[in-house]
Amino acid sequence: MPLRTAAATIAKGKTMTRFRIALVGAAGRMGQAIADVAVSENAEIVAKSDLGDQITSANADVLIDFSSATAAEAICDAAMKSSTALVIGTTGHSAKEKQAIETAARKIPVVFASNFSIGVNALFSLTEQAAKILGENFDLEIVETHHRMKKDAPSGTAKTLAGILQRVRQTKNLRHGREGISGEREKSEIGIHSVRGGDVVGDHTVIFAGQGERVELTHRASSRETFARGALRAARWVIRKPAGLYDMRDVLAL
Ligand code: NAD
Repeated sequence: MPLRTAAATIAKGKTMTRFRIALVGAAGRMGQAIADVAVSENAEIVAKSDLGDQITSANADVLIDFSSATAAEAICDAAMKSSTALVIGTTGHSAKEKQAIETAARKIPVVFASNFSIGVNALFSLTEQAAKILGENFDLEIVETHHRMKKDAPSGTAKTLAGILQRVRQTKNLRHGREGISGEREKSEIGIHSVRGGDVVGDHTVIFAGQGERVELTHRASSRETFARGALRAARWVIRKPAGLYDMRDVLAL
């Protein structure tokens, strides 16, 4: 995809091409975090929209979405209409909303990632490795903690972790919390638990519990800046890619 903005600057000894963003969910926490770091990433926000606004990607090199899953179809339509690359950070999509994203990715390049932090993407790789090394005698549980305003549960990141464990262990058996006489744990099950409270930016722990030992892999985000910088890195990367559906592991070449 041609870069509409040609201006190039030299930053810290390397060339960083300036690029233009249309931002959806601009008034939200992540929208604000993107705005805070955009200039230092040599990105310019040329269009902002939030709930009730017309979504537009005109004059932008890339459209970045941190809004609501319900906006997915409108966002995909706007990006396809102007052949603009798309970065989707929003989580909690239904099957139909995911389908809209997959359809868009046949026409435009799309990065769709449940978590843009490098640390969490390292956690994804480490989780896969640990699950392979430890094998089926270790019980798998995921615990995620987020601030009280978060709307979806479990988090998109916890779902990605569960997907990794499901692939390694060849199971579909997800257990969302336990209550009452829940019975003995099934060997094939992967537990997922969501904790909500205060201003926690995002914690994820994968527990591998065996006989006489336990391994826990934990990532804690203390600032949204890491997600914002990662999303801008993905945006810069996806502008030049052919149509297709990518995730953060593609961006980081993991
Ligand atoms: P937020 O509630 O602070 O902000 C969301 C913003 O989107 C709000 O200003 C809201 O008015 C707006 N909005 C809602 N519906 C809209 C619509 N139909 N069209 C346009 N704007 C709309 O939430 P947040 O903490 O900024 O998180 C936003 C999303 O990003 C959530 O789904 C969250 O899970 C996800 N998130 C992803 C990552 C990641 O790394 N991928 C990191 C943090 C948050």
